Amino acid sequence: MSRQLNGIAAGGGIAIAPAYLLGVPDLSVKQQHTDNVNHEVARLHDSFAITANELREICQRAHAQLNKQAAVVVDMQLQLVLADDFQQTIEHQIVANKYTAGYAVKKETDRWLAENASSEQGLHQRRIAMQDLFKRLMSHILGIELPDPSRLKHQAIIVAHSLTPTDIARFDRRYVVGIVSDLGGSTSHFSIMTKEKAIPGVVGTKTATREILDGTSLIVDGIHGRVLLSPTPAEIDEYEKKAGDYAREMESLGVLKHQRTVSADGRHFEIGANLFMPDEIESAKNSGAEGIGLMRSEALFMGRDTLPSEEEQFLAYKKIVADMTPERVIIRTLDIGGDKPIAAIQTPTEDNPFLGMRSLRFSLAHPEIMRPQMRALLRASVYGRLAVMFPMVSTLDEFLAARKVLEEERQKLQAKGIGCANQIEVGMMVEVPAAVEMADQLAQYADFFSIGSNDLTQYMFAADRGNSQVAHLYQTLHPAVLRAIKHTVDAAHAEGKWVGICGEMANNSLATPLLLGMGIDEFSMNSTSILPIRSLIGELHVRQLQPLVHQAMNARNAKEVRQMIIGRVPALKNFNF
Ligand code: PEP
Ligand code: MG
Repeated sequence: MSRQLNGIAAGGGIAIAPAYLLGVPDLSVKQQHTDNVNHEVARLHDSFAITANELREICQRAHAQLNKQAAVVVDMQLQLVLADDFQQTIEHQIVANKYTAGYAVKKETDRWLAENASSEQGLHQRRIAMQDLFKRLMSHILGIELPDPSRLKHQAIIVAHSLTPTDIARFDRRYVVGIVSDLGGSTSHFSIMTKEKAIPGVVGTKTATREILDGTSLIVDGIHGRVLLSPTPAEIDEYEKKAGDYAREMESLGVLKHQRTVSADGRHFEIGANLFMPDEIESAKNSGAEGIGLMRSEALFMGRDTLPSEEEQFLAYKKIVADMTPERVIIRTLDIGGDKPIAAIQTPTEDNPFLGMRSLRFSLAHPEIMRPQMRALLRASVYGRLAVMFPMVSTLDEFLAARKVLEEERQKLQAKGIGCANQIEVGMMVEVPAAVEMADQLAQYADFFSIGSNDLTQYMFAADRGNSQVAHLYQTLHPAVLRAIKHTVDAAHAEGKWVGICGEMANNSLATPLLLGMGIDEFSMNSTSILPIRSLIGELHVRQLQPLVHQAMNARNAKEVRQMIIGRVPALKNFNF
């Protein structure tokens, strides 16, 4: 049997391919001075010339693939390389001080970074471009190849310490067939992205980049959270068969694509799709989504160094809303911070970013960013069935303040004769324990709730959702979380309001029977999970699930809850997703 690494399943099935290690090679400068200045100047020129060609090629590819985010960063690097003064200053250092090319590049880059350390908007992205450029120049001077997944010409499994959602968005899906990371929990944003892109992934392995060598053949089992290193021929056969079974099962679920989600005892539930990137709308529709239950609007703000204008946002929201008509589209207002940094918005460094100036708090403190977003949403509302949702609401005052901003912008638009839909549902995410406790009051003012189980779990257990070291405390199926959800649902229903769930718990098949039994009305999840969960719901009798809910809420831990569910819900026996 081959060596295995265990991690957290990030979905997407099974992949078999060689590893592509995204490690950072040692680019430190060993020698500072030289006797052969001409040789060092020539090395410098060569490295600039090769880098410029490389960047031009990447730039063309990024533009051809309409990958705007990647193109912006590469464009900036090209400008730096082509700016005469940058290369000339380094050359001058070599000639005047007899520096080696590598040392001169390092010295000039450090000076540039120190000089451009201000937190001015937009500079952050240029600093990233400069740091990246430094790596490219040094790799040519030192003759060390840098890993670059955009150059992949064969299928590979990316092995990285950590990734950002923007990294995942840049991968070419034809070649990147799997992802393995050291860091990350099941609900960290890059692992949510791997699920949304249907890339088989295992995150939080802790040691993958230390144990896996570039080119090692790998099997990634994104269903069970397992990575097999240098698998035997028998293991490859076994997993090829499993991958085939998985693909066939997914295909057989295709018949449910145009059907509604109805339980075995005839209750209708709505299953919407979560969107990270606006261009995922087609795959959402093709996956049988009955609407969009969560559009993470911050995606429009990520991977770029300028803020999207009101007009740009309006066009993006309008397209989604119009494309999904007559189904509902719930757009969540800007939810930045935590593990979703935005280059265009410089926020002061915080000791506890997940407890800091993130999400709705940030929007309320920045009307110059919040108000254009509200206007863009309101203008888009006439093109279909838009609902607006505020994230990470901690208090009633906060929710009312947010609603007021939306209402004020509506009145201003209407005064100018600009149309907005008459009825826009305005809801909130329940993802902070204080909101759970105050759900009865909040439900009087919110049109709906959507439970953000990813953050709710992290805040209930004070366990960072992206930190695999505390993953044992991060228990979505724990009775504490179940009680919080039940309390929220009951409070909303008492006010006649509906409750959805859009965190990762929505696509956790073990949670499905409990969520149905607790009275959740709507689910929203990554597109690939929609049909499997629809099929599971079709086998469950909601009325029979109440005793299980009661028992689970009184269990002592998540393990007991899991055992109860597996023991009492036979439909889960053959559930492979
Ligand atoms: C959540 O917290 O459950 C959620 C859906 O929002 P996000 O994952 O974007 O924080
Ligand atoms: Mg959240």
